[in-house]
Amino acid sequence: MSSVLLVEDEEALRLFLGDSLRSEGYSVETASDGAEGLEKALRLSPDLIVLDIMLPGKDGFEICQALRRRGKPTPILMLTARNQIQDTVTGLKIGADDYVTKPFDMSELMARIGALLRRASAAGGHSAPAMVYEFGSIRVDLRGTEVTKNGKPVDLSAREFQLLRFLIEHRGETLSRDTLLREVWGYGAKIYTRTVDVRIANLRQQLEDDPKEPRYILTVQGLGYKFRAEGGHS
Ligand code: CA
Repeated sequence: MSSVLLVEDEEALRLFLGDSLRSEGYSVETASDGAEGLEKALRLSPDLIVLDIMLPGKDGFEICQALRRRGKPTPILMLTARNQIQDTVTGLKIGADDYVTKPFDMSELMARIGALLRRASAAGGHSAPAMVYEFGSIRVDLRGTEVTKNGKPVDLSAREFQLLRFLIEHRGETLSRDTLLREVWGYGAKIYTRTVDVRIANLRQQLEDDPKEPRYILTVQGLGYKFRAEGGHS
């Protein structure tokens, strides 16, 4: 049974979420403020943390940062308020793994939690080594969320990093724009297909030696994109 720590100060939501998670078969601990959340995260080492951002005491960012600084790789799913895109970018940059926007659909939340737990267990759980993927002069640390080219840091937005990670994890597969929108941007996001092309263009600009003749991030005419299946984990 996977254990989930739920950190949420809004009592009605905490009770409802806790019940929903239990009915899905998770063992659930809850915390109603930031200090309690951090204390329980450290003491209980749950399999996953559902973390609200706006909390009394320490906010969700501080908790996330404190855990990552102590080397805790526990998957963190953040709950963010609608229209606060900057929050999600900040959250992902400081080490959250995913987020859902309030008000959220319970089935979506459960799907995200399931996906994070599967990813964590596929990576070997808490003792997972850094997952590093290298291609050409580019090095991508999937867990440390760091990308370098010729040893120099590449500055990607959180979304671009997620996109790159998804491409790498599905290398060799043709991925349609719809698939990328759904998997990388999240269900129900109101954005345009063109968004994918813009982000892909920026990834190429940052990573490819010749962005017009990409070696890694390939266009599959009429279908979408594909990451070239070479290189490997180390
Ligand atoms: Ca809150």
